[in-house]
Amino acid sequence: MDHQRAAMETIAAPLTYTALPAKVVFGFGTLARLPDEVRSLGCGRALVLSMPEQAHSATALAEQLSNLCVGTFVQAAMHTPVEVTERAMKLVRESGVDCTVALGGGSTIGLGKAIALRTDLPQIVVPTTYAGSEATPILGETQDGRKVTQRSMKVLPEVIVYDVGLTLTLPPALSATSGMNAIAHAVEALYTQDANPVTSMMAERGIQALARSLPLIMRNPREEAARSSALFGAWRCGVCLGSVGMALHHKLCHTLGGSFNLPHAEAHTVVLPHVAAYNLPAAPEAMARVAHALGAPDAPQGLFELARSLGAPTALRDIGMAESDLDRAADLASASPYWNPRAIDRVAIRSLLDDAFFGRPPKSPA
Ligand code: NAD
Repeated sequence: MDHQRAAMETIAAPLTYTALPAKVVFGFGTLARLPDEVRSLGCGRALVLSMPEQAHSATALAEQLSNLCVGTFVQAAMHTPVEVTERAMKLVRESGVDCTVALGGGSTIGLGKAIALRTDLPQIVVPTTYAGSEATPILGETQDGRKVTQRSMKVLPEVIVYDVGLTLTLPPALSATSGMNAIAHAVEALYTQDANPVTSMMAERGIQALARSLPLIMRNPREEAARSSALFGAWRCGVCLGSVGMALHHKLCHTLGGSFNLPHAEAHTVVLPHVAAYNLPAAPEAMARVAHALGAPDAPQGLFELARSLGAPTALRDIGMAESDLDRAADLASASPYWNPRAIDRVAIRSLLDDAFFGRPPKSPA
């Protein structure tokens, strides 16, 4: 009886939870459902979007959609540059496009969202990485070298089609960093100001799924069960990012990507263990859940070891950061007050960045 009581999940505080609307199709071979999904939106003039590297998949999808598709735009680029969106918008207007189908990672999905922001056109997204953008009402756009992020329900995709088969080709190095990027959403969701039992449950299970499947993917990138588990985990982590606020980690990575042009998923991978160490004293329960999900005795070390075991980068100096920029990065990350479980302290952030720069194991304050 006592152990039943101990295992009982109680909701101590009144709970308000708003689920984000989205139709989600998950499985193998689900790409075959695309024509039905376009029709069920009441559409028949889809524009297929991709990055240049995935143009062959976009063309194949356009052929599959046949007369439900008016063409492809395969120039999506990292950080959603506004000039690329404007080129796509010309095609949208000239071709009478009535929905977009984004096939790719966060960069391609970002382009679909940028078009939706300007037109309100419905979006079908087919994610091929673990970044999680498909499940969020968040869009980051870059103009004149500045990345500006906004939240708007206009950009939340209407339909997500997860086809696990499309992730089998995601190279192991990208799978590792993209998976760590997903885990970062879940870690911050566990300690954020508006954390709630629903997203926390998804966060814990999302971390667990990725921590278990990524090592198997490194050994065999075509292992279907591991790929399925990783993508399912990434979906849960994406829902966390879309549902609750983020804190120091996302702020730091936004700074490193936006102001120093560091690669997105790699920056998340390197910084996460250090932010976990920084926040550990202020969020012990959340960190205990992270550790439990990782199957590690300690969350910061567990995250560091996971990245290292996947062969992912663990030092900012290895992903394009210059040591002379660390002071400015600390200034930017400490500017404009924002919520974090532990107060933002410029000296401690500078020291965190130093550890991350040299790839030292994370240090928690005594
Ligand atoms: P990406 O979309 O930039 O893709 C990285 C590379 O992987 C590209 O070369 C792409 O062609 C290739 N690729 C993708 N899937 C593949 C596959 N299955 N097989 C082979 N190659 C594949 O990478 P990303 O990390 O998914 O996205 C990063 C961008 O997404 C950043 O701009 C970031 O800011 C944004 N993002 C936004 C949100 C949000 O909620 N708004 C969330 C996460 C990321």
